[in-house]
Amino acid sequence: MRKEILGVSFDDLTLEEAVAAGERLAAGPAFSYVVTPNPEIVTMARQAEDYQRVLNQAALVLPDGIGVIHAAKILGTPLQGRVPGIDFASGLMTRMAQTGSRLFLLGAKPGVAEEAGRRLTEQYPGLCLCGTHHGYFTDSAPVVDAIRAASPDVVFVCLGAPKQELWMARYGPETGAHLMAGLGGVLDVYAGNVKRAPEVWQKMGMEWCYRLLHQPSRFGRMAKLPLFLVAAAREKGKRGRG
Ligand code: UDP
Repeated sequence: MRKEILGVSFDDLTLEEAVAAGERLAAGPAFSYVVTPNPEIVTMARQAEDYQRVLNQAALVLPDGIGVIHAAKILGTPLQGRVPGIDFASGLMTRMAQTGSRLFLLGAKPGVAEEAGRRLTEQYPGLCLCGTHHGYFTDSAPVVDAIRAASPDVVFVCLGAPKQELWMARYGPETGAHLMAGLGGVLDVYAGNVKRAPEVWQKMGMEWCYRLLHQPSRFGRMAKLPLFLVAAAREKGKRGRG
């Protein structure tokens, strides 16, 4: 059962349940994709119907960001908790390492996916890294060909929003991959270029604050977050009156 938060319908799953669902999808015959919307993505989708449709058509819609959890509470449809894209990806790689599944990394600046891949294969022995490609391309055809040739089970698509979700929906089925996950900046973290917040910050729901302190250039993006909660409160008011 999904819960709608300002136009995007989220799966109400724990991290473990989400990883198990991802593993099932990766083993299935059809193509599917996972999205991990944060408040910024939900806000973007409110102004772009096509983008909103692409998000809602994903096989898994996971709440990445404490703002989504707060909004869900305000709306009276609480979710079990945050499922950060990076935790989903790490959980999935643990399972993939056990079965020797094939992973392709797409996105970030040239060299980053390679370095992330090198570190991940050390961290997850048994994981088969079958290819990488940077995220600064203009022609998608050679990228689709590269993925198809590598024959991955899973592709992490890290092109930033909304590009990554639109790309997965448009080109994913042509690649022959079973599962794609849109994961934003995770390759920068896996490559060691960006530090994730320490666990205490994550547990307090303050990861956004840590990121802001370390990447002040994100301020403009984050300044919109309070408006997201105001929009949720307004929506709740409307529903109450309706
Ligand atoms: N990126 C990319 N191609 C582009 C634009 C962005 O590969 O055309 C990458 C960028 O290098 C970064 C990621 O996409 O690795 C987006 O990171 P951001 O921190 O914006 O994502 P978030 O984690 O906030 O969703």
